[in-house]
This record gives sequence, C-alpha cells and structure tokens, in this order.
Amino acid sequence: MKLAIIGAGAMGSLLGFCLCAEAEVWLLDPWQAHVDAMNAGGLVCELNGVTETRHPYATTNPAEIGLCDAVLVLVKAEQTPWAAAQARSLCGSTTLVVTLQNGVGNREILAEQLGPEHVGQGVTALGATLLGPGHVRHAGQGTTIFSAAPERAGMAALAALFSACGLPAELSDDLEALVWGKLVVNVGINALTALLRVPNGALAALPEARALMAAAVAEAAAVAQARGTLLPYSHPLEHVLAVARATGANRSSMLQDVLRGSPTEISTINGAVVREGLRWGVPTPVNQLLTQLVQALDVSAAQRV
Ligand code: NAD
Repeated sequence: MKLAIIGAGAMGSLLGFCLCAEAEVWLLDPWQAHVDAMNAGGLVCELNGVTETRHPYATTNPAEIGLCDAVLVLVKAEQTPWAAAQARSLCGSTTLVVTLQNGVGNREILAEQLGPEHVGQGVTALGATLLGPGHVRHAGQGTTIFSAAPERAGMAALAALFSACGLPAELSDDLEALVWGKLVVNVGINALTALLRVPNGALAALPEARALMAAAVAEAAAVAQARGTLLPYSHPLEHVLAVARATGANRSSMLQDVLRGSPTEISTINGAVVREGLRWGVPTPVNQLLTQLVQALDVSAAQRV
C-alpha cells in the first residue's frame, strides 16, 4: 500500500514510523527542519527508553509524492483546510482520505473539499510526543478504530495494515458513537489540563479539578443524548476518569500546544459541544467558559509572563 500522512507532528510521525514497516509511507509536513532531519538521519522513535530509527519518505511538497492508495490526516484542526488542499494531488478515483484527528468538524471540511465518498474517519487511543526534529516518543499504546464508511474494504485494508505493524485496530459501523465517545474524553481532559498545566492524572486526583471535569463531561453526555448519539460506554465520567488515570503521566496535546504557544483545538472539542448544545437546546455553560478561557490563552500566548 502507498500511504501519505499529512501532518507529521507527534501522531503522524509515530504512525509513519510504525506503518513504514509494511507500506510505502510518505510524511508530508510544512516544518522544514523536521522533514530535513528525517531525510538526513531517518525518523527516530523512542519507546520505554529504547530508540530505533526507520526511513519513511518525508517532504514538504505533495508533488513529490504522487497518487496514493490512502491518505491519513493528522494535522491540528486549524491546519485541516491546508491538509485538504494538499490531499488533492494525492487522490485518484479510489484513494481514501482518513482523518484520525481529535474533535468534531475535520471530516466535514475534508469531505466538502474532496468528496464524501473519499473521506473516512477513525479515532486512536495511541499517544505520541514530538521530542524535536526527526524524533518522536511513543507515549501510549491503544486501539485505533476506523469507521467502516465510506468504503468497507478500503477501511478494512487500513485496519489490517495497522494490525500487521503491531498497532491494534478495529472497524466500527457506528461513526457517531466512535467520534463522540472520543470527544467526551477530550472534553473532560484537554481544556482542564491546559488551563491548570497539569498531567492527565492530576485531574482525577484533585477533587477541585474532578468537579470541573464532571460538569464538562455531564454537559457533553447530555448533548450526545439529545442528538441521539449512543456513547460506547454507560458511565461517561467513570470512563473519562479511567482514561485520565491510565494516561496519568501524559501531557494532553492541548497542554502541549499551550506550552508551545501553538493554537489549540479547543473550537473542535469543547467548542463543538457548545455549538451542538445550542443546536439541540442543551445548556453548556461550563464548556462555553472552558472554550472562552482556552481561546483567551491562545490569543495571549505572545504576552504571557
Ligand atoms: P503536533 O502538535 O505534534 O503537530 C502539529 C503540527 O505542528 C505538525 O505540522 C508539526 O510538524 C508541527 N510542529 C510540532 N512541533 C513543532 C515545532 N517545535 N516547530 C514547528 N512545528 C512544529 O500534532 P499531534 O499531537 O500529532 O496532533 C495531530 C492530530 O492528532 C490532532 O488532531 C490531535 O488531536 C490528534 N491526536 C494526537 C494524539 C497525540 O498523542 N499526540 C493522540 C490522539 C490524537
């Protein structure tokens, strides 16, 4: 399989490293120093203190790649329109473009630009941290679940590639449950870890933080119920707490963004709960405030003391 990964940040790099064992993998990213490092010395991946180097192709120019069987989109939400534009020259009539991004709304942007018949979605419980140009850390194992839509055989082939490379993967027929199941977890963890500047586990350990998490998660679960989405677990708060504990030492990607002064994905996570709440008549004051606070963090990055 010839596979392009648009967005070679933490997760794109980790997947590029793993999947190039069984596929021709191209990493496409605008960060020139990272691309240069990968082409010069390979992509180094660290897992439990052990490092290994592999050699996926890396470029900043989609014209170097040509047509692909599949394209994974792993940019941050703000870069999704850019990713859609890059994907055009990689897509033939049977190419599948699959977003594994967090949040709600990225698939819709890709589908609008590339055609819904080409665009699929998945969620991943893998964790990754970019340590520097050409250097990624595998920060957590976890299953990747692909929607069976838009085309079961193609999505199954992607899941099979993941499995062949040692990454647990499954197919699901319920895309909404998949996406909202992950969204509720991100709603409970990301904004609070970014605002409090704590690793995931602190949210579960501190009663004051847990109370805020409970309120944000309850709103998101109420919105899911109002829109008819059946979450893939019956106790949302217990599930989010379990994820926070299991990934206790991790810095959420939103915290990493804030520490780096990069734009966060708040509008596609807590902001998406607010938008859907308005649409379905469910009040979401806690998610609204969390969204506004993180948006204020985003725009004040340059002035932070
Ligand atoms: P990331 O922040 O690591 O990378 C995003 C972009 O920023 C990339 O183009 C990358 O090259 C660039 N970048 C990163 N560090 C840079 C630096 N120091 N200087 C210049 N450019 C830099 O993105 P990510 O964490 O891989 O997230 C991609 C998508 O995957 C998001 O939707 C995220 O929510 C989702 N996701 C991430 C994880 C994770 O563990 N990282 C887990 C599940 C889902």
